[in-house]
Amino acid sequence: MTGSLVVVGTGPGKPELMTPAARMALAKATDLVGYGLYLDRVAVRHGQCRHASGNRAELERARLALALAASGRDVVLVSGGDPGVFAMAAAVFEAVETGEPAWRSLDIRVEPGVTAMLAAAAEVGAPLGGDFCAISLSDNLKAWATIERRLQAAAEADFVIALYNPASSARRRQLAQAFDILRAAKTGATPVLFVRAAGTSEAKVTATTLANADASTADMRTLIIVGASTTRRIGRWIYTPRGEQGMSS
Ligand code: SAH
Repeated sequence: MTGSLVVVGTGPGKPELMTPAARMALAKATDLVGYGLYLDRVAVRHGQCRHASGNRAELERARLALALAASGRDVVLVSGGDPGVFAMAAAVFEAVETGEPAWRSLDIRVEPGVTAMLAAAAEVGAPLGGDFCAISLSDNLKAWATIERRLQAAAEADFVIALYNPASSARRRQLAQAFDILRAAKTGATPVLFVRAAGTSEAKVTATTLANADASTADMRTLIIVGASTTRRIGRWIYTPRGEQGMSS
């Protein structure tokens, strides 16, 4: 009996923002594995086994999903947003690389989802209209010095910057430090957006500037977008033009 593993992105939260392909994979699964909060968002049909776990221990969760698939089950590993963006898909391949040789021949698929950055951008207009980058401020898996270097480089290159994982109950200092680094390299008038629960019915947007940005208002459901030098406000919308000044037709 051959099993399978599909790593599914459920999108930012609103059911309409989950893809039909993700929904189909969920319906077909015999086993659902995931962080409890994300698993709660998906309907479990009769006969499906649910394996909920805590937020950390991603590799353990990936190994459990792989072991179940290797035993012949059709497993879905559930991730919020897109499973490839600071989420479970990379943990699965890391577990495959370091785990049982037989896992390499398993039927593994990744089903994409709407990532928080895209849902957040859509709440305010088109802030990601030009070149942008995404940086996770979590230093659980990488050194803070690496994050600092990337923030500096992104500011210097004038990317729009999407900041994932700005804060949690255990990580309160990182965002304030990130703003300090960005303030040293960019003008205080740069638009900064705090988007909480983007792509859900509770979405809340705070639009401010780099000079006034208050790091203490972010939590683990907040995505932050820091504009480039061209990012601007038009009425209630914020956008970044696709081109540079003087280059439009
Ligand atoms: N795989 C997820 C990201 C996981 S990292 C994705 O693609 O969206 C977790 C971080 O994502 C959170 O700390 C927060 O910064 C961001 N995030 C996830 N869902 C969000 C939402 N609905 N609104 C705003 N930010 C969100």
